[in-house]
Amino acid sequence: MSGITILVIDDDASIHNVVERRLEGVVDEVLKADTPTKGLRIALQQKPDVILLDINMPQIDGFKVCRHLKENPGTHDIPILFLTADRNSDNLVKALDAGASDYISKPFNHIELKARVRVALRTKQMIDLLRERARIDAVTGLNNRAAMDDALVAATSAFHRTGQPVALLMIDLDHFKPINDTYGHGVGDDVIRRVGTSIRAGCRPYDIACRFGGDEFGVILGQTDSACAEQISKRILNGINRLKIRAGGEDVEVTCSGGVASATEMPSDFEPADLLKAADEALYNAKSQGRNRLAIASLSG
Ligand code: GH3
Ligand code: MG
Repeated sequence: MSGITILVIDDDASIHNVVERRLEGVVDEVLKADTPTKGLRIALQQKPDVILLDINMPQIDGFKVCRHLKENPGTHDIPILFLTADRNSDNLVKALDAGASDYISKPFNHIELKARVRVALRTKQMIDLLRERARIDAVTGLNNRAAMDDALVAATSAFHRTGQPVALLMIDLDHFKPINDTYGHGVGDDVIRRVGTSIRAGCRPYDIACRFGGDEFGVILGQTDSACAEQISKRILNGINRLKIRAGGEDVEVTCSGGVASATEMPSDFEPADLLKAADEALYNAKSQGRNRLAIASLSG
């Protein structure tokens, strides 16, 4: 895990040094910017955990910088603490209205500086945790649909940019409804959980396992050309078919169908949704050909 980083945006370099000295032991790294423009660039590139921002800077005032940071999706979760020599309450209200979490008066009371930065860091950790949880499926612990959509966009654009191959495997459990009907939803949930674990076990470090929804799963196969996609997909499906699940003194038979589509087999200008559609159509073919099998998407359909 990377260390805790804060960014100080202040045209007065002596402030950078005071902050660095006083926050030793609280943060791992203090990034420094002596102009708002540099500050905005560093914030976007390095994503610090907290930003300390001077209100009065010659080029752009701190309120404007704060609004920029809060409007940019890349930085809007970072708590901002205003640094101000000004105790005018209109300005403090203006700072908080611009999106700041808090303010610290200059000259610093060192204990207060540490305490306020610690509170801001706790807020940031909570935001990160909630964001992460919002992207995880609660039953399986896999990435959820939202996270899968984002990963698919990233993988597709990496393919178009660098030619890094990628494939998408979609999996749907066969006749899952009867499992729920026969053994109850608790057993159904358990099957979904075990399938999730099995998919994860079959993945390589650069694959991204996701629960697409219901009894459907998706795996983004990183660094994978079409020949390799078929091999890995078969391995993942076999892992699911080998699961030993018992309920009510009986073996619960679980099989699944899969459809896999490779970026290299797609039209050259394909989008993430096209890859998903191709894998889904292949999955549909696997189902209609009798289930418990893998079908491969091809350009000719
Ligand atoms: P098919 O082979 O055509 O896929 O048949 P199927 O019975 O699996 O049909 P389908 O995929 O359409 O049905 C999925 C069922 O999964 C419907 C729903 O009741 C059940 N289901 C969806 N999400 C959950 C869940 O989180 N827990 C449980 N227990 N059941 C779920
Ligand atoms: Mg199903």
